[in-house]
This record gives sequence, structure tokens and C-alpha cells, in this order.
Amino acid sequence: MSKYQVQSRKCKVQSNVESAIAMKWVSTRRSSPSVPFIDALFAGTAPDGGLYFPERFYPLSPPTLDQLRTADLATIGTVVGAHLLAGEISEADIGRLVRDALDFPIPLVQVTDRVWALELFHGPTLAFKDVGARVQARLLHHFTDGTPLTILVATSGDTGSAVAQAFHRVPDSRVFVLYPEGQVSDVQEAQMASLGDNITAVAIQGTFDDCQRLVKQAFADEDLRRQVWLTPANSINLGRLLPQVFYYFLLARLGPAKAGRYEQGDPGGLVVSVPSGNFGNLTAGLIAKRLGLPVRRFVAATNVNDVVPAYLRTGIYEPRPSLRTVANAMDVGAPSNFERMRAMYDDDLDRMREDVAGAAFDDRRVIAEIGRVYREHGYLLDPHGAIAWLGLQQFLASEPAAGVFLATAHPAKFREVVEPAIGRTVPLPATLSDALARPRHSERLPVNYRALVNLILR
Ligand SMILES: *Cc1c(COP(=O)(O)O)cnc(C)c1O
Repeated sequence: MSKYQVQSRKCKVQSNVESAIAMKWVSTRRSSPSVPFIDALFAGTAPDGGLYFPERFYPLSPPTLDQLRTADLATIGTVVGAHLLAGEISEADIGRLVRDALDFPIPLVQVTDRVWALELFHGPTLAFKDVGARVQARLLHHFTDGTPLTILVATSGDTGSAVAQAFHRVPDSRVFVLYPEGQVSDVQEAQMASLGDNITAVAIQGTFDDCQRLVKQAFADEDLRRQVWLTPANSINLGRLLPQVFYYFLLARLGPAKAGRYEQGDPGGLVVSVPSGNFGNLTAGLIAKRLGLPVRRFVAATNVNDVVPAYLRTGIYEPRPSLRTVANAMDVGAPSNFERMRAMYDDDLDRMREDVAGAAFDDRRVIAEIGRVYREHGYLLDPHGAIAWLGLQQFLASEPAAGVFLATAHPAKFREVVEPAIGRTVPLPATLSDALARPRHSERLPVNYRALVNLILR
């Protein structure tokens, strides 16, 4: 019996099947069977090594799309979530879960007469990954039968704090975050070690690679896995991807008045620029479009790690080692979700080009633009948002349209880049200063696997 079959036996069977539209989830590599959402959620990757994505896209009905134009995020999450997971979770349950997870604002801020920023960075770790991670944590909890989940993550800083914050106080779950002692920033340590409750911060007296090795060893340890249910909570999981579809529907409110041709059923006047690394965010946007969100074009905006813009230009996909940039959450040389994008377009480059344009920018350009936009428009960009802004500007220079760029990190998270660019200090938002002021506790461990197991089983 495969691992995911064992795991799905532990899960609740949902009975409210509307089989007419219940989605199946298939592997991008098409050589393992399609599965219900619950199996995809707990399996992480498919048995053939591919990533799960929807077998078919069922668009939302026109009246539903119309209703979403004035809906708030929680309502959008409920409607779109219930649509994607029809037959697998009830509308009441997904509604409750989304309200609990997305308890922070996602404002659409007008920057110029035809450009808006969708600010995705007001969650607990001030970056857009909070959206996916917080919903994923609650989905995992929803689909279990009370068997406690144990989540183990190794982090060099950011991922760990997002996962820790996402699972904080989620019932029947425990998180162990392993980080190299003394090698994460003060803010990152505060965000992991000041939570308490079901979150244990583990300071390993070694490197990030040591932390990763310990986590890998645990996942390979059959004896440990008989005693605790180790659950992957990684970023390529569907539980992360689907909630990212929700916030794109906030753009529908820019509708007729602002984006011109929306009302006539034209494929929308809107151009949406997405700062991309692993391309989960952009993939979610492409799914939103398949569900009926009118978007004229997406811009895949990257730093110099530009394998996807290069593919769109040349048709050749060449993953390579990543380069360090000021937008370091996008320093990815082999983007994991590219496989999903390709599968969505059946590997047809021309069809992908109809929906996606590429753009890439180096650090000098990014830093200069942060300063210029601040001076000319009074809007403060972080390096990731700045890349999305630049991608949008490049597109709008050739075609008049209205546009939105996704702002994925709070500028205060990248003060060392932003402050010199604008020649001013950036105040810490309350979420960060509060975390810094709270007492911290980390378990200190040597690089020793037995010590880690003892801590987990304690
Ligand atoms: C992760 C991240 C990105 C890139 O998102 P992908 O879904 O990996 O393309 C962009 N900006 C910030 C701040 C991030 O943390």
C-alpha cells in the first residue's frame, strides 16, 4: 500500500458529493492516477514525481463572477474555494476556515491614474506566503480525524517563520522549526521563537544544511513515522496554491469603470504583473483566469534569474543555478511551478504567450526604481514589488491599459535595500516590533539526530 493510501485512511470522508462538478487532481506528468483533493493535499507530490493540478477547469458562472465583483476576500475565498473543492468540503467549512486564516487586509491601492498595487504583505510575516501557508495549515487540520500532525521544517529564516506563524494555535498540530543558531536575523528568530504553544523553535548548533539533513533523516525514519504523523507542509503543495487564486478575484472590482472594456465581455482590459520565483503566485493567477476572471495578460516579472522570461522569448527552457539578488525570495534558477504552467498549456508555447509576457530586471534598475517611484508617486516599493511594477511599466509603455502589480513583501522587511534607495529610514510595522519585544524560547540542540528524535517524542 502506498504512503498516500495509508494517509488517506486517516482522513475524514466527505459525504456531500456534487459529483457533476467534483474536481479530480492529476499529476503534471500524467503517469499516476487522478486523486481526490484530500489525497493530493497529504501526498505533496504525485507518485510519478509530478505536481498535482486540476484535471479540468470549470469556469464560475456569470452571475457568480458578477457577485464576486463586490465581494470581500472572505466571501471570495468561500465561493471560489467551494467551487474548486466541490464535493470535498462544504461551503460552511471552507468559509469558516478562510475567515480564520485570512484575518488581515489585502488592499488594492491606487498608485497612478492607471496603476494599482495589490498589497499582499499585511499578514503576520509581512510577505505574501502568509496567504497560502495559513490556509494550507487549516486545510490539513480540517481533513484529519484528530490524529495530531507533526510538521518539521528546516529554515534559513523566512520559510520557517511563515510556517510557524501559519500553524500557530491550529489544533492537533505541532511544528518544529529547525534553524542554524546565530545565523538568522533578529526579526526572523523573534517570529519563530516568540510564539510558544504548539510551535517549538529549535536552534541547531550547525548550518542550514545540517538542519535540512536532520529533517530529511526524520522523513526517512520509518520507526519515527510509526509513532508520529510527519506531514509535509511544503510550498509546491496544492494547499498553498489554491488559496492564492482567491486574491486575484479582488481585481474584479476594478471592473467596468476603471479597466474600460471589462463590461463588454472583452477579455478584460487588465494587465497583471506578478513578481515571480517559483511561479506559484503566477500559476494561481492563470487558474483564476481559467475560472473566468477577465485578465488581458499576465506579466511574469523576475530578477536576473530569468529562465521563464527567457523561455517565453526563445522557447528554450534552461534551468540553472540561481544568482543572489536584492529580491532574494525570487532567487530561483529552477522554478518548481513551471511544470504546472507548462501542463496548463499542454506545452504549447504560443498559447502560453497569449496569456503571459516575460520581463526581467537587474538590481541596479530595481534600486533606482524604488527611489524614483517614491519621489514621483509617494509609493514605497520593496525590491520584489518593484520588479512587478517595472514589468507592468514595460508592458504599458507599448499598450495603453489599466494594470495591477502584486506587492509581495512589506518594504520594512528589506530595509537594508529600501532605505539607501529612498534616503530615509523606514519604520518597523507593529507586527515586527511586537514580535521583537516578546520573550523568546528556543530548544538548543547539537547536530545530532537522536537528540532531535528525543525532542519530538518528549
Ligand atoms: C516567494 C516570494 C515571491 C515569489 O513567489 P513565487 O510564487 O515563488 O513565484 C515573491 N515575492 C516574495 C516577497 C516572496 O516571498
